[in-house]
Amino acid sequence: MNADQAATLKARLEEDRRQILSGVNKLLEHSNDEFENDVPDINDEASRTYNRQVLLSLGEVDRQQLKQIDEALKLIEQNNGEYGICVDCEEKIPFARLKAAPYVRRCIKCKESLEESSRTEP
Ligand SMILES: [Zn+2]
Repeated sequence: MNADQAATLKARLEEDRRQILSGVNKLLEHSNDEFENDVPDINDEASRTYNRQVLLSLGEVDRQQLKQIDEALKLIEQNNGEYGICVDCEEKIPFARLKAAPYVRRCIKCKESLEESSRTEP
């Protein structure tokens, strides 16, 4: 992955993250003024910590996604060149797939075989 591709994914991840957090902020605005000051500044890219109230307000899906986004951002920042390597077969994940879902950790083949093996019904 080159630097441009990494930057594209990073922007995409940060945008997704902003969207999740802005949904929470809207929720909190109407829930309890007491927590107003605890809501993270979503424009501050360095602020990656979330308080309990924010996390509680997130649905399970959003919380998982936020975690995946943060992990992906961390990995991209740590080593641009290595990002996008399948954790199972260590092949490069196609950039088109990453662009659609920047936080995927497996190539399509490995994801499918994982889903296949975790299927409990025949
Ligand atoms: Zn793979």
